[in-house]
Amino acid sequence: KVRVRFAPSPTGPLHIGGVRTALFNYLFAKHNGGEFLVRIEDTDQNRFVEGAEEYIKQSLEWAGIVADEAPWNPGDCGPYRQSERKDIYKEYADKLVKNDLAYYAFDTTEELEEMRERLKQARVNTPQYNSMTRMQMTNSLTLSAEEVQKRLDNGDPYVIRLKVPRKEEIRLNDMVRGWVMVHSHTIDDKILMKSDGMPTYHLANVVDDHLMGITHVIRGEEWLPSAPLHVLLYRYLGWEDSMPRFAHLPLLLKPDGNGKLSKRDGDKMGFAVFPIEWKDPATGDISRGFKEDGFLADAFINFLSFLGWNPGDEREFFTLEELIAEFTMERVTKAGTKFDIDKAKWFNQQYLKEKPDAELAKYLLADMEKEGVTSTPEKAALVCNQLKERVTFPQEIWRDGRFFYEAPTSYDAKTVKKKWKPEGVAVLTDYAAAIESADSFTADDAKSIFMGILEQHEMKIGHVMPALRVAISGKGGGPDLMIMQEILGKEEVASRIKVAIE
Ligand code: GLU
Repeated sequence: KVRVRFAPSPTGPLHIGGVRTALFNYLFAKHNGGEFLVRIEDTDQNRFVEGAEEYIKQSLEWAGIVADEAPWNPGDCGPYRQSERKDIYKEYADKLVKNDLAYYAFDTTEELEEMRERLKQARVNTPQYNSMTRMQMTNSLTLSAEEVQKRLDNGDPYVIRLKVPRKEEIRLNDMVRGWVMVHSHTIDDKILMKSDGMPTYHLANVVDDHLMGITHVIRGEEWLPSAPLHVLLYRYLGWEDSMPRFAHLPLLLKPDGNGKLSKRDGDKMGFAVFPIEWKDPATGDISRGFKEDGFLADAFINFLSFLGWNPGDEREFFTLEELIAEFTMERVTKAGTKFDIDKAKWFNQQYLKEKPDAELAKYLLADMEKEGVTSTPEKAALVCNQLKERVTFPQEIWRDGRFFYEAPTSYDAKTVKKKWKPEGVAVLTDYAAAIESADSFTADDAKSIFMGILEQHEMKIGHVMPALRVAISGKGGGPDLMIMQEILGKEEVASRIKVAIE
């Protein structure tokens, strides 16, 4: 059975790239009838940020990505927070030491610094603590078993390091990138257990993926360099046969394609890179989110799915269910994918205009309520119906449609200058009087009354329409003028015209 996991570290808000990783994991699992887990990788206590896990949970919830197992929905493989699994990792680290595949290292910070200096002087470009250097440069491997025991008993601080083989080619067959080969001498003797007794990412990640029955590791490309080390760990722990397959997803690039997308790009260009709003617990600073910016969850998911995947044809619109049906790893691209906020907005617009009026009305009513303006849900739905094809975000309905609730206090200057003529004013005067005594005032009624009066004045519709619109709404453009009047009602229309004429 396919089992995948999304394994964020709670070091801050989930970047859009993280949500993309979660989504692809989810789609892959569901396409294959499998399970999607969330595991919180919180072993780095220095980088732990309060509220980050809750943020991750809420972000996924908003996007509609449901975890089969997670800290907030535990299954049989818990706990799902690494900080609660400390004892488990120790057992495996000890086993590796016992089998001579890992070792205790007592190097002090000064000793490590000295080693780095010496390597630099020997013109080694990237100083590493590895099989090549450890013999000459460090004391760890020259210590006898008794010596090690003595230092342990003495309470000397230590770490446990992996004993990376000296000359070996490590290969893995990545589902996105194909065969990846790395020579072992380029890999550090990575720390597996830190001096505080916490495992490092590498050990905890591999142990948990194994114990949680993970079949596919799907994650961002930045983890590709760690993959050979993980392969080695699987082998050393005797789990090579059940090693998960790897798939490293392409990087998300800046809009211009130059480098990785960052929060700063969003700040600079005025868009969110986080799914939902994030309040930094330390500074209180708020970072904007897609949700609060007015993105609809289904549009957001559709947009996200195209960041590194495509269906192989021209189709662009996919619900989550359709994505599940279509998603395969073969269609994930290798090349980095540019983040295009305009495309995101376009998706939002397309989704928004397809939404039922009553659903959009909820956004409008909430926006109005903030300003103490009230409406019946029915009227709000009618207003949404008129404006939804003209806006990109729900909040723009209130911005552009407040004249449905409030008489204009100013009039579009350009329209007034060009279209406000005495002949037109005469028409509007008669029109206001005529509608007041009308029995019925539907959009059709408004139109025929208006046409009748134009005829009496021998005027063309195009000459007076803009004046009527600006008198009623204050604006030079907008939704259908006749329907607008029906929604407003004849008293309101007549009164607005009279105010405008004065
Ligand atoms: N904790 C890692 C992260 O924050 C997980 C990487 C992985 O999926 O292996 O991205």
